[in-house]
Amino acid sequence: MFKADLHCHSHVSDGLLSPAEVAARAHANGVELFALTDHDDVAGLAAARRTAAAAGMDFLDGVEISVTWRGATVHVVGLGIDPEHAELQAGLAQIRAGRGERARRIAAALHDVGIAGALQGAMSHAHNPELVGRTHFARHIVASGRAKDIPSVFRHYLVKGKPGYVNHEWASLAQAAGWIRAAGGCAVLAHPARYELSRPAMRSLLQEFKALGGAALEVVAGSHTAEQSARFARLAAEWGLLASCGSDFHAPGEGGREVGRLAALPPGCEPVWRLWREA
Ligand code: AMP
Ligand code: MN
Ligand code: MN
Ligand code: MN
Repeated sequence: MFKADLHCHSHVSDGLLSPAEVAARAHANGVELFALTDHDDVAGLAAARRTAAAAGMDFLDGVEISVTWRGATVHVVGLGIDPEHAELQAGLAQIRAGRGERARRIAAALHDVGIAGALQGAMSHAHNPELVGRTHFARHIVASGRAKDIPSVFRHYLVKGKPGYVNHEWASLAQAAGWIRAAGGCAVLAHPARYELSRPAMRSLLQEFKALGGAALEVVAGSHTAEQSARFARLAAEWGLLASCGSDFHAPGEGGREVGRLAALPPGCEPVWRLWREA
């Protein structure tokens, strides 16, 4: 079976390994087509591409763009993008600037519940100072002994309704899809089961995504159950979307999925890699 992993993170965003280390790990785990898709930044792609080329593994330049859609945060992966494209770069730079401002608000909210110094703490865990996210806050809170692991920090502090959660306006769906398309890439709606949308809301999201030129759905995702993958395989077919798969690997030992450890696409899916490989 052909092995692709088209959604992974390095320390350019909230992963722990360098881009070269993630690419090498993907290859060691038998991945044949790999994409690095850091949140809102393309700075790791050149190094990951070099490592992939040296190993003889096919590589796609990728990114995972943070989007606000009807008040909900959704993620759009771009695959096969030109990382040098000016419009894409400007859009991502704008999102990163918003992350800095949001990080200060998260730190202030945590301060109010007795967690002082969280901004400095989170920054000390961020390899890329422009890309501070909730995972860096979570690593800081675990390291300071206030929580046993990353998932429990999210549960108690960092998800909607908890004290360290702040609302934030990311890019629009139209902007994210537009930047990816302008940069020659394929827009993929990431881990759709994570959004907990009602069925009608999911249909609206898919309709809008498709109308904006969205091309694929991440049917198999590290966080999806087999039932969720089956449901989104049906929706991909219904909406004429290609099917993608990605582990969303971030780090060894933090509870997420290992790079390359993914189930096969359900039968009947049209794989997104048809865009880059002969069938
Ligand atoms: P941010 O873009 O800064 O809001 O952070 C989102 C990231 O936090 C995701 O990409 C995951 O890496 C991580 N994350 C979100 N929810 C959880 C959760 N419940 N448990 C562990 N990690 C999570
Ligand atoms: Mn992440
Ligand atoms: Mn995501
Ligand atoms: Mn991701």
